[in-house]
Amino acid sequence: MNTLRLTGRDLDTAADILRRGGLLGIPTETVYGLGANGLDPAAVEHIFEAKGRPQDNPLILHIPSAQWLPRYCEDIPPAAYLLAEQFWPGPLTMILRRRDLVPDVVTAGLDTVGMRCPAHPLCREIIHRAGVPVAAPSGNTSGRPSPTTAAAMLEDMDGKIDGIVDGGPCAVGVESTIVDLTVTPPRLLRPGGVTLEQLRAALGEVAVDSAVTRLMGAGEHPRAPGMKYRHYAPKAPVTVVKGPPAAAAEYIRAHLEPGDGVICFDEYAPLFPGCPLEQLGPSTDVPEQARRVFEALRWFDGTRVKRIWAQCPDDEGIGLAVANRLNKAAGFHIIQV
Ligand code: AMP
Ligand code: MG
Repeated sequence: MNTLRLTGRDLDTAADILRRGGLLGIPTETVYGLGANGLDPAAVEHIFEAKGRPQDNPLILHIPSAQWLPRYCEDIPPAAYLLAEQFWPGPLTMILRRRDLVPDVVTAGLDTVGMRCPAHPLCREIIHRAGVPVAAPSGNTSGRPSPTTAAAMLEDMDGKIDGIVDGGPCAVGVESTIVDLTVTPPRLLRPGGVTLEQLRAALGEVAVDSAVTRLMGAGEHPRAPGMKYRHYAPKAPVTVVKGPPAAAAEYIRAHLEPGDGVICFDEYAPLFPGCPLEQLGPSTDVPEQARRVFEALRWFDGTRVKRIWAQCPDDEGIGLAVANRLNKAAGFHIIQV
């Protein structure tokens, strides 16, 4: 299939692809998404095929405003409207009880559905013109780092989707925060651009699912099926080194062998002359680290490095999301210095 390269001038074409049951690469403020009409089971099936995504990993439904929630969800708690008021449009997904009209293929057969109202202006306009909720996971091949540019998404999806709208690099750079509102207290399933601190300020107590900070055991049943798969991983194995930035960088320098690559904060790049290197941004600029982390992980797949060492921010604010993506890419192979 020939994948159309679209821009902000082609949004009618983009909306038409969705309405006709096609697959569309969509810019969002988090990462690029692989969208289809969320009420068309056959179209949604094609998302799983294009990504090689396991069928038991549910998708998120993207809507233009909280007013659409009652169309697809029931038993909506007041907390959902409170969060929508504060954080929508934006990088927050709420897990709510679903209505029967949401196809099983979207929710992987769960009785809940993930709902998000994205902030990217082109994405909003596409959904508005299509007039349907858009089911979308991240636009990468299953298991690979998520795409934060149209070019990165085309690496994985060229020829497999009908079109992609280039809306520039993603402003947040990591996927949406996912909070489950069907349990008490609400539970953070995936950290993202809306921070745990912000959720707690809005809701009071918020639990953190254990899958956020550690590897899930083989016999365990995850609340969100997506939690059980290897994720975000480049081909070479990754080791995350946590701790004070200077000490972590020094640890990496001391253990570096020929053929290794490094992901480090900008200040420490001079420690690794001649080494395949990706800079995450200044150690103090965590939002910049979020924007760069997936491109950094992706870059190594074009090199021949045998192992990757990665510096990592601490768990404060959006640092929890960056650390989560790096930890998952490393299969939770973490060294604390
Ligand atoms: P991605 O495919 O990268 O956009 O991720 C979508 C994420 O949303 C996955 O981690 C899913 O497991 C999660 N998700 C979607 N719907 C649900 C749901 N009903 N319950 C729990 N997690 C969900
Ligand atoms: Mg994904």
